Amino acid sequence: MRLILLGPPGAGKGTQAIVLSKKYGIPHISTGDILREAVKKDLPLGKKARSFMEKGELVPDEIVTGIIVERLKIDDAKKGFILDGFPRTLKQAQALDEALKKESIYIDLILYFETSPEVAIARLSGRRVCKVCGYNYHIKNIPPKKTGICDQCGGGLFQRPDDKEETVRNRLKVYEDQTKPLVDYYIKEGILRKVSGDLDVKELFHRFFLRYSPKRSWYDSLKKR
Ligand code: ADP
Ligand code: ZN
Repeated sequence: MRLILLGPPGAGKGTQAIVLSKKYGIPHISTGDILREAVKKDLPLGKKARSFMEKGELVPDEIVTGIIVERLKIDDAKKGFILDGFPRTLKQAQALDEALKKESIYIDLILYFETSPEVAIARLSGRRVCKVCGYNYHIKNIPPKKTGICDQCGGGLFQRPDDKEETVRNRLKVYEDQTKPLVDYYIKEGILRKVSGDLDVKELFHRFFLRYSPKRSWYDSLKKR
């Protein structure tokens, strides 16, 4: 199963991707995670990406597209993958189409997390991330047992620099301008399904993925393309 998760920052794509990756046994490929890792390790990629990310701007298409095209060549992606945070511009979507076409493979489904700005802002501004293992929390919705400490590994929690309110607003604007047009692009290709990103992760999973498992009808009809 090859899946793309599309939707604004704060839609819950990353959290849902972790659940789906376990369920289907396919890798969760997040451009945000890959870029953040490169920034943390101060790799050449991180040096190029950092300033864009801190402002909530997009990293240039060539850079991000190159990363994904290379990542999809790794063996674990052969049986399927979940793309989270890519594509984010029309150029990236076209580049992805080209790359997949060369390998004669297709995306099965784009899940569009339709999310209200209020919910997105509340989620992002309350998000806290473990410094050590990267696990995500939310000060109200998913608080850790001990304030500021990761339940999984005992690491300290911090706020992502781009989750500060001003940067969040810019990220939402960038999303509206550059990423939202992809909804129409994929509607035209007939492979987009809308789900409500306002639902909490568990509820969305139950409503959508338990009822519509890949063995069921809509998935089969998509596979026949
Ligand atoms: P969110 O979806 O919550 O904004 P991500 O972790 O997906 O967060 O992305 C964080 C940042 O990484 C983005 O604001 C952007 O700077 C950069 N980034 C991630 N994916 C892409 C992409 N496909 N194209 C360009 N920049 C990207
Ligand atoms: Zn942790």
